[in-house]
Amino acid sequence: MLFKVLPKTEFLKIVDHLGQARPVIGPVRKGTSRDGRALYDFERLAAPEHLSLEATTTIHSAKRFFLPHRETLCRFKLEGRGFEKLAGDDHPVSQVVVGLHPCDINALNRLDKVLSAPPYPDHRYLARRRSSFLIGLGCMPEPHCFCRSMGTHSAWHGFDLFLTDLGEEYFAEILSAAAFELLQGFQCREAAHADHEKYKAAAAAREKRFTARVETTDLAKILDMEFESPAWEEWGKKCFSCGSCASACPTCYCYGVREEISLDFASAVKEKILYSCNLVDFAEVAGGHNFRKDPATRLKYRYYHKHRGFLERFEEPLCVGCGRCGLVCLAGITVPRVIASVRGREEGHA
Ligand code: SF4
Ligand code: SF4
Repeated sequence: MLFKVLPKTEFLKIVDHLGQARPVIGPVRKGTSRDGRALYDFERLAAPEHLSLEATTTIHSAKRFFLPHRETLCRFKLEGRGFEKLAGDDHPVSQVVVGLHPCDINALNRLDKVLSAPPYPDHRYLARRRSSFLIGLGCMPEPHCFCRSMGTHSAWHGFDLFLTDLGEEYFAEILSAAAFELLQGFQCREAAHADHEKYKAAAAAREKRFTARVETTDLAKILDMEFESPAWEEWGKKCFSCGSCASACPTCYCYGVREEISLDFASAVKEKILYSCNLVDFAEVAGGHNFRKDPATRLKYRYYHKHRGFLERFEEPLCVGCGRCGLVCLAGITVPRVIASVRGREEGHA
């Protein structure tokens, strides 16, 4: 990895330059929440000045630019006595995504693992991922952030360039040849020892700001022991089965497939729609049998997938500790609270 120092004024020029060739996606301000919190979300930028680099946790992650909530897999057209298969949606493949926090980059790294795994790799996702240019940005933890507990508060790979705020300048970590070549055309300098020291001081100050915490020691084993814990029933009673948590989550990837034939039978469409295991009919099968009828079972399944099943298969949990599910949940269900109660503790804050 190479380290350079980049004046902040130069960075907007870089964004402007990148935007001339391909779409740029980044956090933009979306108003204020009812409790006074500034709201941001990832959007395609109309102009570089719309970029809000001060953004805290965005409402959604940038997942939908790699894994859209709804996507047409293919279309069919009646041709003679049979159907002709046509191509599906062609979402922009080559894009620039700016302002990804470490948890968001690590979330994409987790998705890479599962969506590239045989026997059914997601070629659309992988094409977008391979041809995107990613610029990460250091952040300050908010009260809901527990990425430090999940080991995802720092990103080692899965981006091209990563910037850390050093006041008037950014400390730039260069990971790809594309990022190295890009910076050749802009004013920046090699990082010196003093810059390394400033970076380390900024990282140490950030470490002290984490307050939310999830105890992950032996968590997978404890989940096995606590499969019948009354805590699941208690949280299940609160859950509205709305699916908002999965919609906001940067790592949820479960989907359903819907096929629709037009009334005149002249055409048909096959769509992939992101789905949530908290939704009532997630485990319903033909004939109407539902394998997870009650909210407690569905909520428990989501936690076991994130903190046990994925870990067993890929050696790391599927939760990156961004806290988004807790922010959107009207029932006040948060990962630190649920895990603490399953462990028999009161709450999940330091
Ligand atoms: S946990 Fe919260 S956000 Fe998720 S489905 Fe239940 S009520 Fe909705
Ligand atoms: S489960 Fe919640 S905290 Fe974990 S990655 Fe998903 S939204 Fe973030």
